[in-house]
Amino acid sequence: MSDIKAIYIHVPFCRRRCKYCSFISYQSREGDIPAYIDAVKKELSLRSEDTVINTVYFGGGTPSLLTSEQISSLMSAIKNNFHLANDSEITMESNPGTIDFKYLCGVKMAGINRLSIGVQSFNDEELSMLGRIHTVKDALVAIKYAREAALNNLNIDLIYGLPGQTIDDWKDNLVKAIEVNPDHISLYALTLEPEEPLFKDIESGILPEISADTAAGQYELAEKLLEKHGYIHYEISNWAKPGFECLHNLVYWQGGEYLGIGVAAHSYTEKRRTANTADLDKYMSYLSHNSLPPQDNDEVIDPELELAESIILGLRMCNGIGLQDFQKRFNIDIMERYNRRIDELLDAGLIEKNKSVIKLTQSGRLLGNEVFWRFLPDKV
Ligand code: SF4
Repeated sequence: MSDIKAIYIHVPFCRRRCKYCSFISYQSREGDIPAYIDAVKKELSLRSEDTVINTVYFGGGTPSLLTSEQISSLMSAIKNNFHLANDSEITMESNPGTIDFKYLCGVKMAGINRLSIGVQSFNDEELSMLGRIHTVKDALVAIKYAREAALNNLNIDLIYGLPGQTIDDWKDNLVKAIEVNPDHISLYALTLEPEEPLFKDIESGILPEISADTAAGQYELAEKLLEKHGYIHYEISNWAKPGFECLHNLVYWQGGEYLGIGVAAHSYTEKRRTANTADLDKYMSYLSHNSLPPQDNDEVIDPELELAESIILGLRMCNGIGLQDFQKRFNIDIMERYNRRIDELLDAGLIEKNKSVIKLTQSGRLLGNEVFWRFLPDKV
């Protein structure tokens, strides 16, 4: 019996691919959106469950390429196939180059009550380097419109660690972010794969190398500045004003079950992690024949892996892992079970502990992966 509390809907369309993008998203396929919406509705009906859903998240891709009527029809499909809690959090990601005031009023009417705007940078040169389709002005107008449309739970995403971006450049970004006063801020370090155009720009010398030291300094600066302005650092990459933590992402981070709908969407239910096919045509074809899409991944999460993942996710949370809660959930004393690893990490200054909690230090937050791999099953 599943215990799904969250639904993620993937919208795999973008006007143009950004130069650093590693997400599953198709450009020049916007004409397929109506057929895709039908497929998503069909998948929702095939995965229908008698369970209460507390959070819905439209992610992408660019969900704001959907019309407000399309969002509304997807919300109806969710309500028809699940019990959507009255006070549920309904998030939509949006690209500032695709939204206006009328649109935001429409999506609010459709049920969206949390808007995430992919600002990425408050510097036009940086936006151009990243290959974004929008300008700083577009982002500022989008934020203003979101407030006027009474979207009162607003996140912005920013990326740091860009090629050639100095600490001062980043400080300008943070100052502008604080000025526009969002309720939630997500900060991501730029990471690149060899096939991405920005990687090639760096490799060929068009752009300077990314400096890990500068990125670390930028992260530290963000921690200081955001805390000073009333943002609580609650997850390694996320800050929120009190009461504005992202409930949907908390489901992921706390090991809760979720259902992913759409191309390449991941689900975690009944100790299994699955992923729908990333092939848009295949996805739509299966659903048009009333069949669930093929899975690119279907993995049983055994107890060892579940333990490791809950430690890694728990350490990503700034409050860390409550030792008693952990003992209660897994019937394991984490200090005994990971004794040697924890001592090494304490000596290295990457984690700290007291009687009730174990958590990352500031250095640990900067070098999270150095900590996390040590808890994977074959490393213990
Ligand atoms: S908007 Fe997001 S998903 Fe779309 S191409 Fe850019 S980074 Fe990728």
